[in-house]
Amino acid sequence: MRKPFVAGNWKMNKTVAEARSLVKEMLAGLQSVSSVERVLCPPFVALPSVSRLLKGTGIGLGAQNLYWEAAGAYTGEISPGMVKEYCQYVILGHSERRAYFGETDRTVNRKVKAALQIGLIPIVCVGETLEEIETGQTEVVVTRQVRQGLEGLSVEQASQIVIAYEPVWAIGTGRAAYGQDANHVVGNYIRPPLKEMFGRSVSQAVRVLYGGSVKGENAEEFFSQAEIDGALVGGASLKASDFIRIVQAAAK
Ligand code: PEP
Repeated sequence: MRKPFVAGNWKMNKTVAEARSLVKEMLAGLQSVSSVERVLCPPFVALPSVSRLLKGTGIGLGAQNLYWEAAGAYTGEISPGMVKEYCQYVILGHSERRAYFGETDRTVNRKVKAALQIGLIPIVCVGETLEEIETGQTEVVVTRQVRQGLEGLSVEQASQIVIAYEPVWAIGTGRAAYGQDANHVVGNYIRPPLKEMFGRSVSQAVRVLYGGSVKGENAEEFFSQAEIDGALVGGASLKASDFIRIVQAAAK
């Protein structure tokens, strides 16, 4: 049995003061759904403050990125150790980072390894673009992202990760995938490479989330799919009532 998992990716939204009030607004509602692993991923600067608010609540904290080196002359970057001071999770390889900041499967792989080495759980994002789905490349792209992104992990490390299947054309567009189609991708293009690389039990143990315009109204369509274990939520994680509704749907 895989425990349902719902994470909110706040992206570049909310000042520290705004982050604090949003957390306060959603805290009680989130706390009442302990059968779901719940994670908030605010911007870096809000992590210290939000981590204090979440202490002892059972709600996890994640960053949205990190750099793989431990320290040094990497202006503007944040090390795994800095993230680990506050967080248990880190989103890696989000499509916005791949599209706007030059991340590749190779750099994602270095980040995944660095995160695991320091004891952070990576939420590794994969997913095809509109052009790729329209030209029939979903299988090739998604399996490559899984294989290269997770290359070189031990079985023990691989068993800890969370994968988010996020079709790029569905992110922030209001145009979610169909639940059945997302289930097909997870069952046929994500779990099989996991099985080849790390064995059957890892491929069955790893939580795979769907992400892309998940809302309170459509969440159940995804959570009722056999291969999908939760959601990575962008826009709807910025409204307390919407995010709580999604977490409640995951508990059903
Ligand atoms: C995301 O940022 O990972 C995401 C899925 O965004 P949205 O829910 O807004 O589509």
